[in-house]
Amino acid sequence: MSNLADLVRNIPNWPKPGIQFKDITTLLKDPVGLRQAVEELSRPFETAGVDVVLGTEARGFLFAPAIALHLGAGCILARKPGKLPWKTVSQSYQLEYGTDRLELHEDAIQPGQRVLLVDDLLATGGTILAATELVHQLGGMVAGYAFLIELSFLLGRAKLGSAPVHSLIQYASEE
Ligand code: AMP
Repeated sequence: MSNLADLVRNIPNWPKPGIQFKDITTLLKDPVGLRQAVEELSRPFETAGVDVVLGTEARGFLFAPAIALHLGAGCILARKPGKLPWKTVSQSYQLEYGTDRLELHEDAIQPGQRVLLVDDLLATGGTILAATELVHQLGGMVAGYAFLIELSFLLGRAKLGSAPVHSLIQYASEE
C-alpha cells in the first residue's frame, strides 16, 4: 500500500501565480499507486448499480475508463467545446482559473441510467457541476462522484447535492 498523497507533486504558482497545482503524473507513473488509486476510487461504488462512468476532460479521462472496467460499466466523455463529432448538449462553467464549457454526446446517456462522475480533482466544483447538469439534461441519475484529490477548503462538495462524494486525498488548506 502506498500513501497516495506522497505520490502527488505540488507545483507552486503554476499555471499562474497563487495556484498550487497538484501534479498527478508522479502518481500515474507509479504502478502500485496507480492500481491502488483506481481500486480505491471504484470500491465504494461496487454495489451502486453504475451503468456508465463519466470522465471530464482532460485528467478525468485518465481514471474513468479504468474505474468503468473495475465496475463493469461503460465510459462516456465530457469534453471541451468542438471536440465531440456527433450532436451534443452543452453547459458553461467557472474554473478556479478561468471559464469554460463542457459537452456530452446527446446519446451518451439513456434516460434513467445511473452515472458515476469522475475527475482527478475537485476544487470549486464548477466543472463537475456542469457535468452533473449535462447528466440531468439527458435524463441520467447521478450515482455518485469520485475524485482522486479534493481541495476541501474550496467547499466544492457543497454544490453537489445528496449523491455520495468520494475523494482519496484531501487538502484542508492551500498548501
Ligand atoms: P473546479 O471546477 O474548480 O472544481 O476545478 C476542477 C478542475 O480543474 C479539475 O478538472 C482539475 O483538473 C482542475 N484543477 C483545478 N484546480 C487545480 C489544482 N490546484 N491543481 C490541479 N488541477 C486543478
